[in-house]
Amino acid sequence: MVGGGIGGLAAARGLQLAGWSVRVLERAADLESLGAGLSLFPNAVRALGALGVELPAGRLPGPGGIRARNGRWLSRSDPAAYPERYGAPLVAVHRASLQRVLLEALVPGTVMTGARVAEVRAGDGGPLVVRHDTEELGADLVVLADGAASGTRGLVTGGRPRPVHAGYTAWRGVMEAGPGTAVADGATESWGRGERFGIVPLADGRIYWFATANAPEGGRSPDGEHAELLRRFSGWHAPVPDVLRATDPGAVLRHDVYELLPHPRSYVRGRVVLLGDAAHVMSPNLGQGACQALEDAATLGAVLLPAGADVDAGLAAYDRARRPRARRIARRSAQIGRIAQLDGRFSSAARDHVIRWTPDLLTRRQLDDVLQWDVPARLG
Ligand SMILES: Cc1cc2nc3c(=O)[nH]c(=O)nc-3n(C[C@H](O)[C@H](O)[C@H](O)COP(=O)(O)OP(=O)(O)OC[C@H]3O[C@@H](n4cnc5c(N)ncnc54)[C@H](O)[C@@H]3O)c2cc1C
Repeated sequence: MVGGGIGGLAAARGLQLAGWSVRVLERAADLESLGAGLSLFPNAVRALGALGVELPAGRLPGPGGIRARNGRWLSRSDPAAYPERYGAPLVAVHRASLQRVLLEALVPGTVMTGARVAEVRAGDGGPLVVRHDTEELGADLVVLADGAASGTRGLVTGGRPRPVHAGYTAWRGVMEAGPGTAVADGATESWGRGERFGIVPLADGRIYWFATANAPEGGRSPDGEHAELLRRFSGWHAPVPDVLRATDPGAVLRHDVYELLPHPRSYVRGRVVLLGDAAHVMSPNLGQGACQALEDAATLGAVLLPAGADVDAGLAAYDRARRPRARRIARRSAQIGRIAQLDGRFSSAARDHVIRWTPDLLTRRQLDDVLQWDVPARLG
């Protein structure tokens, strides 16, 4: 396994459940996770269930929805209906909590840190050879889970697909919940002109927030990202400014948003497999990046069970099950981003009007396609 992010750890778990002996090579010196919150939708919670991984108990997000920058509701949603409709709840967790439960589920010693993979090559008629900082290892299967900026993706795709900047940037942070900042227990996203601000109560009681703004690639604020956010969002509805003020300025993350274009023609070449953001980095507008990585992981484990089964048939089944679905979700997410980031006075007003009057039924149908998901039947 190349990479020990959410995708790599989950896939390692899936393969171990299927009876494989797995090594995760992670370039970072330790697995201290950066990151903020993650919304894990029912499809991801089901994938975790298939991997036998349980999330820590905690509060679940209440009713929420989309608001305008002045606070007016544009559309409402209630995830209380999810367990009945999709077989699992929406759970919002800190990335570190998810990483911890995944790590705990692995056979001790699975993850090797400080191991940057520099080369994957075919061995002499035998297994693949993976070279990292300090040694070479032989492998029957290599999973590339090295993230959006994957340096190994070309081994499968031949090099053309690459992450393309979506035209906007995203900030993320976590606020300790405390007296003085009242935040409702529903997840909300508020839309302005070329800017958005989302608030998501985490299962552990803290508040995760994210913000986006149209901006050129690679931009940084000269006086710090926190100051930039206060400038942009101070005039927004409560509790947006309070949430920002209550966040440690040193803990604000900023990342540009990318989409992988064109989508890979295959996630598999021989015994080398793409997984997670390496396969399908997508904009965060549906909150599905990590969710799709978890679906990948559960699927890979399912199609390769038991170890020693027809691996090539299993990998072909993985590609068939995963690629059309992840591509569809990435495309939809990109479309939502283009609409949500509209910055013209009239275009953004028209957008808000359309959202207010779009029947729930239409929205629900689109959501059904994303959230209704099952682990494919095992081959064997
Ligand atoms: C603003 C924002 C909000 C988001 N919100 C959500 C959300 O609410 N819900 C959701 O599901 N998703 C969300 N996502 C997406 C989610 O964060 C990613 O899809 C997910 O983390 C991808 O996991 P991954 O394991 O594929 O990649 P990564 O987490 O990037 O992990 C890749 C790992 O590979 C390692 N690595 C890289 N190169 C090498 C090498 N050569 N050798 C060894 N190791 C290497 C890296 O150090 C890293 O640890 C969001 C993303 C953004 C930007």
